[in-house]
Amino acid sequence: MTVTDAAPRTDEEIRQEVVAWLRENLPADWVAAVDADDDEKLREARKQLEYNAWCAKLGESGWATPTWPKEYGGAGIEPVQAKVVNEELGRYKVPRSFNVIGIGMGGPTIMQWGSEELKHRYLPPMAQHREIWCQLFSEPGAGSDVAGLATRAVRDGDEWIVNGQKVWTTLAHIASFGLLVARTDPDQPKHKGLSYFIVDMHAPGVEVRPLKQITGDAEFNEVFFTDVRIPDSHRLGPEGEGWAVATTTLMNERVALSGAGSTGGGNVGGGAVDDLIVEAKRTGAWDDLVIRDRLVQAAIEGRIIKYTNFRAAAQRKSGKPAGPEGSITKLFQAEYNQRLQSLAMDVMGAKAMAWDAAGDTKDGAAVRGFLRSRANTIEGGTSEVMRNILGERVLGLPKEPAVDRDIPWKDVARSS
Ligand SMILES: Cc1cc2nc3c(=O)[nH]c(=O)nc-3n(C[C@H](O)[C@H](O)[C@H](O)COP(=O)(O)OP(=O)(O)OC[C@H]3O[C@@H](n4cnc5c(N)ncnc54)[C@H](O)[C@@H]3O)c2cc1C
Repeated sequence: MTVTDAAPRTDEEIRQEVVAWLRENLPADWVAAVDADDDEKLREARKQLEYNAWCAKLGESGWATPTWPKEYGGAGIEPVQAKVVNEELGRYKVPRSFNVIGIGMGGPTIMQWGSEELKHRYLPPMAQHREIWCQLFSEPGAGSDVAGLATRAVRDGDEWIVNGQKVWTTLAHIASFGLLVARTDPDQPKHKGLSYFIVDMHAPGVEVRPLKQITGDAEFNEVFFTDVRIPDSHRLGPEGEGWAVATTTLMNERVALSGAGSTGGGNVGGGAVDDLIVEAKRTGAWDDLVIRDRLVQAAIEGRIIKYTNFRAAAQRKSGKPAGPEGSITKLFQAEYNQRLQSLAMDVMGAKAMAWDAAGDTKDGAAVRGFLRSRANTIEGGTSEVMRNILGERVLGLPKEPAVDRDIPWKDVARSS
């Protein structure tokens, strides 16, 4: 079933439509567990749901990408109304696709810069979790200063030949496609000689090597390109204008990491911050005045993020693309989440030191959440870089001095 065609709907009509779809498509036990507000039953019901099939089904309905036009796999509703959809998906605690680099960043970039052919080919399977995407920007010598990147793409007729190395590439080990920025003209200053491509991660010459992180997972990778061929039809935006296209991706990345999406916000081990308060009352941690103060502060900050994101969504109502203000909630969400996860460990006490490593218990999930949160102030741009962006582009403060901005990239001093 897909979202029905109709004249503009009210918030209430959209809510009813989402709820009707969820009640029809979720397992009956799931719906009963939500109705009864029974977390134990829900955990049981979760075991019955096949994750990939569910994500595909949710994607086909259009509710996974509510603001995308219907012809590209969305529900075609106004950004400000998407919050109604997200509220109901949240209330029914439905799993969402982990294809966030595709849905949150690649989708908007292809929508803004891609040809009709690329939009029709790539957007629906992205929304349906059938093709996973990764972002190939950072390199060993270019992270915060990503415009200084060295991976080369050289034109050869209707194709480009790519050589170089990327790093910290989340999901590259399971990705079908990647969003690649490469240097196409080293004689230009660093921001001007870049172009942006969609790359097939299974093309000959692409080698992916996983990197293990503190949680024990290996969710990101090194990626090596050796004479990888990309058709010119898979370039997004004009040749040499890759920085402008990359900026679209980065602005949307900040929105995706700001707690505005399905995965953000104040969650500990799959539960809301309010659940942590209940847990603290149960264990007695609530009687500790300092813990209680931190819990209340966390609840307040969680709501500030939520309402700030609502305001940003309302501003985008007119179809305005994501702007530098996404950096405000990206910065705040990253630091807030680290405080919250650390607080959860203090509420858990000794249980935070001995947990089931398989991580399928609530305690295990909470500890993994704490370990994973260490990366929040680095991924998607560090907090220091966010403060620079806010200073320069939101507050209008003087720019950082840059010695390499106007000279050809090939003449910029760099190690190796
Ligand atoms: C979990 C995780 C997932 C990631 N996934 C991806 C991905 O999928 N794709 C991708 O392309 N990249 C990814 N990254 C890379 C990420 O974007 C970079 O790590 C980040 O931009 C920082 O770059 P860097 O690690 O090279 O640090 P550097 O840029 O070397 O920074 C080192 C330190 O210097 C500070 N610093 C640097 N420049 C300035 C400045 N101008 N002013 C003040 N301080 C400064 C930084 O804040 C930092 O503290 C991921 C990173 C993490 C941790």
